[in-house]
Amino acid sequence: MTSMTRFHPPGAPVAVLTTQPLDRALDYRAPEGGVEDGAFVEVPLGPRKVLGVVWGAAAGDWPVEKLRPILRVLPVPPMAQAFRDFIERSAAYTLTPLPAMLRLGLRAPGLGEAPGKRRVYTLGTGEPDRATAARAAVIDALQSRPGDVFALSELADMAGVSSGVVKGLLKSGAVLEQATPRDADYPTLDPQRPGKTLAEDQIAAAEGLRTSVKSGTYGTTLLKGVTGSGKTEVYLEAVAEALAQGRQALVLLPEIALTGEFLTRVEARFGARPAEWHSGVTQAERRRCWTHVATGQARLVVGARSSLFLPFRSLGLIVVDEEHDTSYKQEDGVLYSARDMAVLRASCEGAQVILATATPSLESWANAELGKYARLDLTSRFGDAVMPKLATIDMRDEQLPGGRWVSPTLQRAIEARIIEGEQSLIFLNRRGYAPVTLCRACGQQVACHQCDARMVEHRFQKRLMCHQCGETAPMPDACPSCKVEGKMAAVGPGVERMAEEVTTLFPEARVAILSSDLFGSARSLKAKVEEIARGGADIIVGTQLVAKGHNFPKLTLVGVIDADLGLQGSDLRAAERTFQLMRQVSGRAGRADKPGVALMQTYQPEHPVIRAILSGDEESFLREEADQRRAAGVPPYGRMAGIVISDTDGATAFDVGNALARDITPLAAIGAEVYGPAPAPIARIRGRHRVRLLVKAPRQAPIQPALADWVGRIILPRSTRLSIDIDPQSF
Ligand code: ADP
Ligand code: ZN
Repeated sequence: MTSMTRFHPPGAPVAVLTTQPLDRALDYRAPEGGVEDGAFVEVPLGPRKVLGVVWGAAAGDWPVEKLRPILRVLPVPPMAQAFRDFIERSAAYTLTPLPAMLRLGLRAPGLGEAPGKRRVYTLGTGEPDRATAARAAVIDALQSRPGDVFALSELADMAGVSSGVVKGLLKSGAVLEQATPRDADYPTLDPQRPGKTLAEDQIAAAEGLRTSVKSGTYGTTLLKGVTGSGKTEVYLEAVAEALAQGRQALVLLPEIALTGEFLTRVEARFGARPAEWHSGVTQAERRRCWTHVATGQARLVVGARSSLFLPFRSLGLIVVDEEHDTSYKQEDGVLYSARDMAVLRASCEGAQVILATATPSLESWANAELGKYARLDLTSRFGDAVMPKLATIDMRDEQLPGGRWVSPTLQRAIEARIIEGEQSLIFLNRRGYAPVTLCRACGQQVACHQCDARMVEHRFQKRLMCHQCGETAPMPDACPSCKVEGKMAAVGPGVERMAEEVTTLFPEARVAILSSDLFGSARSLKAKVEEIARGGADIIVGTQLVAKGHNFPKLTLVGVIDADLGLQGSDLRAAERTFQLMRQVSGRAGRADKPGVALMQTYQPEHPVIRAILSGDEESFLREEADQRRAAGVPPYGRMAGIVISDTDGATAFDVGNALARDITPLAAIGAEVYGPAPAPIARIRGRHRVRLLVKAPRQAPIQPALADWVGRIILPRSTRLSIDIDPQSF
């Protein structure tokens, strides 16, 4: 770890870490005026200028005269020591090269450019002097987000045109170009404003959290409370405490569609909206957020997992809302769990973490059992609201014609809600129209040509889509295999097909579909969620998107089309996932004055997981799951890592896997075992064959250095890629 922040006098040799793919920091000469540890700088690298951060004293002993000079110190506060520690520790934990980790911390659009130098674009009042489709796309893009300003490339991307098209619109005044002003300050949040009057159990939990935040030290608390128990109200008290202490707070949400409701609640509580950091905000807004997080002016940030890499000045609290949510795991590029990284960041900063959930992950639950985390429980819904009634519909008893999935029992329940003017949610965790498209002449299913996956029909887009690589193709008339026409058939249900069935059953009802792929932007999804919350639909058909904590006040019935869906397969986490998902989605039903019901269609009502969901006895369920995992030595009672080796040639990938498996000396030394190589859960993606090895080690074993040593012994063929996933999602 690096030492305390130091000032290096002019000409002193310093180490600068850049975001270039090098394995270490490079030495440079400090500029005239000297430079501090953590300073953001511009340095020469070969013929280029690159961004970097001063990472302490020079490591080598080159004579100073031979070192190239730092060109410029950027006009932003230096990266704090605690943040640099976090970058180092998270890189070591995830086995990511330091520069790649640093890159996550430098995702500030236009970092280092002085205000006034950057150009931004907004909607003007003029008419284009010549109308073209490309020009209309630019105007449409601007009109869809009134009031926003955009960087040139951002606007061009959004409209799907070249930047020349945008520039062409300047002359007529249809688009305006301006120099950006200094990033405006965020309005002040007032932590002293009174919040809602808390119920007794809420007071106890809020006091516990306030005390932890006051301590000014690191600690993690699992805040477990059923949906509607007021977890948000309670953790906002902890946020108030952090703000009152003059520190910053970060709230992580798993889904940006939920931020709308959250922002409103923050405004009601503190009198102003917080800063936002996620893919749904513009570059200008992101830059503003980054800058003011660095100066400390932005006191509260609500964001996606990448907000963990913002340059906080004085972070006092991180809330991970819906901590069990699998979307906290980053599965591309740097593989990390935002929940775990939140804990790591907080321990570097001397900050508190709150993990809020109705259905804790087994990891967090076990950490609380072990006493590593504190735990606070809210056991009842706030006010008069009661928990929804849960029941199964035994599909073996239901009379259903082929190609139909809503059972008569569920149909009657929906009917009753429509008459009452209440909302129903039909839940199916499957995007698209149908999971399988097959030819009734030859029996072939349509598969992605570059992945080991089926093509899924998306009827609204009239296309087939691969959910692995995103590739789409027009829906074919003729079978791609046997060329017979008019024989392609959809098999099985997806949400779009459920919406179709529901519309047939209830032609008068207003049906809304909530599925991530049906919305072009985060904003349109947010708008849809808000419209539904206001009562703009009678029946909502949705994927797991709706399982996340958004309040639909009129929703009183949840119908789960296929409660067994997640129980198939061999994944050890299947039971935990299904339990969480069913509890989450059923928790959507019912609020204060309207009791809710959740009906789960199943072919195996006696399955232990289905029974546990019905009984709601979470502690027993978690304890049993924990016992099984302990017996198997898997997380959270053992450590795991997944090693995925991919190559365009399957045999090469297997050869590398076998070579690794042949000599496991560094792993054996720490008591670890190796399984595989075997085809990865998805054996081919984007034309690359994937082979996986699983490493299992005792809980306390130093798995990272052993892994680094082990894979470091192999020389990879040029075409081969190897990635290491510490704590993989599936095993
Ligand atoms: P959770 O996050 O546990 O699902 P919320 O914090 O969203 O629960 O609370 C559920 C609902 O109950 C919200 O509409 C919230 O405003 C309301 N609520 C919770 N606690 C209180 C309180 N003390 N006073 C008034 N309303 C409350
Ligand atoms: Zn594909």
